[in-house]
Amino acid sequence: MDPTKLKPQKGAHNCKWAEPTLFEPAPEWTDAERAPWTCHRQAVPMHLESTEVCEECPRWEARPDGNRKP
Ligand code: SF4
Repeated sequence: MDPTKLKPQKGAHNCKWAEPTLFEPAPEWTDAERAPWTCHRQAVPMHLESTEVCEECPRWEARPDGNRKP
């Protein structure tokens, strides 16, 4: 099987809308331990307690350069 033809595994780490909560402005970053990722897809950023929602999210979009966040 050609691995380049596999669909990318969707997650917060490779979605262009997700940023580590720790990088958010104060006081939002203080929630990083409870919710490590923040979704910026909508006008009001949404902290993600789990990234399971990203696995089946219809809004997932790959980061433009394909890089992953830590
Ligand atoms: S909820 Fe959807 S749009 Fe938001 S970070 Fe996860 S995959 Fe991306």
